[in-house]
Amino acid sequence: MPAVGVITYDVTPLQGALANAFLILINALFFHVKFIGHVNQYPEDSSEKLLREDENVFDFIIVGAGAAGCALANRLSEQDQWSVLLIEAGDYPQPSTGVPGLFPTFLDSSTDTWQYTIAKNKQYCQAYKNKQCHILRGKLVGGTSAINNMHYIRGLDDGNKTQMIYECIENHVELDKFNNLDLMCKREIYLEQVFQKSIVRKSMQDAYHSIGFSNNSQKSSIGYGNSYLTIRDGERYHMGRAFLTPLKGRSNFFLAKNTLVEGIVLNDPLDKRAKGVNVTIKNIRLFLQARKELILTAGPINNAKLLLLSGIGPKEYLLKRDIPVMLNMPGVGENLNFHLAVPLFFGLNATQLYEDYTETDLVQDTFDYVVYRSGNFSNVGIHDFVTFMSTDAYPNVPNIAVYHYYFKVGDRMIKTWLEGLQLNQKIVTNILKANEQQTILMFLVTLLRTKSVGQIQLNDTHFHGIPNIVGNFFTDPDGEDFIALTSAISRVANLQDTPPFETIGAQLLDIRVPNCRNYKFCSVHYVKCYVQNMAFPTSDISGSLRRGPECDTSAVVKPDYEVRYIRCLRVCDSSILPNPGLGNTVASDAMMAIDLSEILKKKWIKDYMSPFD
Ligand SMILES: Cc1cc2nc3c(=O)[nH]c(=O)nc-3n(C[C@H](O)[C@H](O)[C@H](O)COP(=O)(O)OP(=O)(O)OC[C@H]3O[C@@H](n4cnc5c(N)ncnc54)[C@H](O)[C@@H]3O)c2cc1C
Repeated sequence: MPAVGVITYDVTPLQGALANAFLILINALFFHVKFIGHVNQYPEDSSEKLLREDENVFDFIIVGAGAAGCALANRLSEQDQWSVLLIEAGDYPQPSTGVPGLFPTFLDSSTDTWQYTIAKNKQYCQAYKNKQCHILRGKLVGGTSAINNMHYIRGLDDGNKTQMIYECIENHVELDKFNNLDLMCKREIYLEQVFQKSIVRKSMQDAYHSIGFSNNSQKSSIGYGNSYLTIRDGERYHMGRAFLTPLKGRSNFFLAKNTLVEGIVLNDPLDKRAKGVNVTIKNIRLFLQARKELILTAGPINNAKLLLLSGIGPKEYLLKRDIPVMLNMPGVGENLNFHLAVPLFFGLNATQLYEDYTETDLVQDTFDYVVYRSGNFSNVGIHDFVTFMSTDAYPNVPNIAVYHYYFKVGDRMIKTWLEGLQLNQKIVTNILKANEQQTILMFLVTLLRTKSVGQIQLNDTHFHGIPNIVGNFFTDPDGEDFIALTSAISRVANLQDTPPFETIGAQLLDIRVPNCRNYKFCSVHYVKCYVQNMAFPTSDISGSLRRGPECDTSAVVKPDYEVRYIRCLRVCDSSILPNPGLGNTVASDAMMAIDLSEILKKKWIKDYMSPFD
């Protein structure tokens, strides 16, 4: 009997030249496919080694191999005299994560992701499965950057130093200004603009242009443009590739994958200094000691969870859950900030856009990708086309980003997307039905600076417990979040009246949101109802361990990334940002890690001079 998943064909009728050609083709495919996302490119796993040692002591322990963790590990392990351990709960990325065009397929991957739900609330997320919104983070080497949408969007520059760091880690000549830093710039992050010309892209540009937007060459400022993507030669170039591949063979660097950090250990309640972490490897518990510093880069949800479980958080809250209080810190888990997005769908009726996606297209796409790393799987279609706009009092600073997706007739990816977003089944069915006849454009209208803040709370007193994530969407006192989203949605909906959209027959689709059926389609009440029900948090989150000046008692982290009142415990990723920033967070996560590495070098190396000072 053949093994499960193996299809057997009788190829005996193939003979002679045809058989030879077929074998050459199959061999070529096998030869090329094995190089996609090969695990050999990552440093080897040391977790088994940790299990064998009686005592495990490292100078620096970093928790979480996401964008920030990988960048930090890279810079700290440059110092031969330091030992650096990077701990990751997940595994090496699967080969398919390397294929850019498959990016939507990881939305519901349970092996590569942490899947969370937002606590139920009748005021929002009613259009989603179980009337609840969902959120995910990467659980693999490279973290969320290994499964995300690959946009590389910097946060706002807050001065020369930030810009210098960005340019020092980005490998893109156009962005390069600080040549004088060449000696220490490693330019690990490869960025490409891979946009393909198409009627749809041109129509969108023209439509936005006709309502007053222009091409935005300054990325992430008002206008439309094509994002830089973390792609190199047709493959996703996530932060694990960028920052960990160069560490292969560095003898002072250790990567422990499939290793779960369950708690932070302090010296003792009186001497509040980070001592190390408790981890589980293959169900075996272990203590790992950090001689110099312990740095959390496990993302905004798990960083907060780790502090709370280790007794660092609001005192009353911890006592109620019988968690011994190590430090009363009211801000832990309190300032959770999300990007809130609303999907909007247009059906396109132009005959020249009646493009269906057939089995032959799929075979062609697969072949082109496997053999040449080209074709539709080597890019993200029109998803790199982004428009930034402002609906509030600061007309030059965007508070809205609009991302775009295009689906041919009968496109399999639309189902993957809608199910990944976990939309209610009735809505999914309505959209799929429309896609049987029409090509579809999906706009993701995303609020970048939300005023409402949520919370991360514990449901259990052990790490395996699912946290209680409170969204509190649309609860800001002046209702600014709701106003911003409804106004942006109306602006985007009006694109259907522009000549370029009329030419391609673009019409808003009535997807029949169950709670909004009583309102006239597109009326003011309908739009409000649509936003209320359809808004969902994207995975760009921040603020659960907010950074603030020393005098700010509600802040958790000091300007130098150290947790207040705890020596040698640092947090370095979007957890510390008051909001996730103007775009997505990979760029700022990596930038902050390089910044912290300089702070640590200045602290621990006598007379160290940072090139960024
Ligand atoms: C679907 C999707 C699309 C996105 N698209 C974009 C985009 O196009 N551009 C962009 O810039 N951003 C995007 N983002 C967001 C972005 O990828 C993340 O915000 C960013 O990668 C966060 O990096 P990080 O280092 O802070 O954390 P993470 O990437 O979350 O990394 C944290 C790592 O720590 C590990 N970890 C967590 N807890 C533990 C523990 N207890 N023990 C051991 N290890 C642990 C995790 O497994 C993970 O690997 C997207 C996110 C998603 C989900």
